[in-house]
Amino acid sequence: MKKHNYSAGPCILPQEVFEKSAAAILDFNHSGLSILEISHRSKDFVAVMDEARALVLELLGLEGKGYQALFMHGGASLEFLMVPCNLMKQDGKAAYLDTGTWANNAIKEAKFFGETVVAASSKEANYSFIPKDFSIPADADYFHCTSNNTIFGTQMKSFPETNVPLVCDMSSDIFSRTIDFSKFDLIYAGAQKNMGPAGATLAVVKEAILGKTGRSIPSMLDYQKHIAAESMYNTPAVFPVYASLLTLQWLKSLGGISAIEKINEQKAALLYTEIDRNPLFKGTANIEDRSNMNATFLLNDEAHAPLFDELWKKAGISGIPGHRSVGGYRASMYNALPLESVQVLVDVMKELETKI
Ligand SMILES: *Cc1c(COP(=O)(O)O)cnc(C)c1O
Repeated sequence: MKKHNYSAGPCILPQEVFEKSAAAILDFNHSGLSILEISHRSKDFVAVMDEARALVLELLGLEGKGYQALFMHGGASLEFLMVPCNLMKQDGKAAYLDTGTWANNAIKEAKFFGETVVAASSKEANYSFIPKDFSIPADADYFHCTSNNTIFGTQMKSFPETNVPLVCDMSSDIFSRTIDFSKFDLIYAGAQKNMGPAGATLAVVKEAILGKTGRSIPSMLDYQKHIAAESMYNTPAVFPVYASLLTLQWLKSLGGISAIEKINEQKAALLYTEIDRNPLFKGTANIEDRSNMNATFLLNDEAHAPLFDELWKKAGISGIPGHRSVGGYRASMYNALPLESVQVLVDVMKELETKI
C-alpha cells in the first residue's frame, strides 16, 4: 500500500512522475533505449533540458525578464559557495539573514570569500521565528535569505525591499506559493524537495548581476560558464532533470503555482488548526511565521509518544519524526502530498486524544 509520505527531503513526488520516469528507464520516447543509456547530447535529451529550463521560467513568471534557469550538480550546499564566488567582490562583503541551520551553512561558506554581516538572527530562540526589523548595509554585494526553514518550520511571508542584489535559498518551498519572483536576482534550490529526485540543483539567475566580482572563477563554479553551455558544461544529472521536468509539467497541468498554492494553504490550515485545537500537541514555530511546507510540533507530554507513534504508523504515515535539533514531529506537506494524507494525520491526532 502507498504510504502517506511526510518525509522532509528527498520527499513525495506526484505518482504520475514515478510512473512516467519508471517507463523512461525502460524505454525513453519509444526509442528502444533507456534514458539512463543515452547521450546527454542526444536530440531527445537536449529537448528535455531545454523544456525543463523554459518551464522553470514560465512557472515562476520570469520569461523574457533577463533570467536564466540552470540545472547543475552539487545541491543547495554547493550554491552556498557558488553564490559568494560569483557575487562577492574581492574584499567585498555580503549580508545574511540567519534563520536556521541552512542559513548558517550558507554563511559558513561565504566566509571563504569575504566578510559576512549577519543582518539579524533568531538563533537565541532556537530559530522559532523570522526576524522582521533589520537593516541591510547599503554597501553589501548582496543580501541572502532562506525562504523556508525546512528544519525549524518557519517561512518568510515577505521579503525585504533592498537596493542590493537579493539572493534566496528556496530549496524547500520553490513552486509552492505565488511570490513576485522578479524581486530576486538569484534563486536556488536542491531539486529533492519540491521538484524531483536528489542530484539536480536549480539556479535561476538574473544575468545582469554576473561578471562583476573581479575574481577569477573556476569553471564548474562559474554561472556564466553554465549559462553559455546551456546547463551542459559537463554531463548533467540526466535522470533527475528528466523527473524534474515531469514534475514541472504536472504542476503546469494543475494550473501552475497559484493553483497548488490554494491546496497547500488548505493542507496547512487543516493541520495547524488541529495542532492548536488538540490539547495534546503544540506547535514549535511562531504562529505568524509558520511554514506551509514543514509543520513542526511537539507532544505536550512525551509519555504519549509510544502510543502516537504506533497510531500514525498503523495509519500508513511515514516520515514525520522531527529533525534531531528540534525533536518532536515534522510533517512536510510538499506540493505532491494530497489533502487526504493530511486528513489521515489529523484523524490520528484526534484518535490519540480519545485514547488518553
Ligand atoms: C535541504 C536543504 C538544503 C540542502 O540541500 P542539499 O541539496 O542537500 O545541499 C539547503 N537549504 C534548504 C532550505 C534545504 O531545505
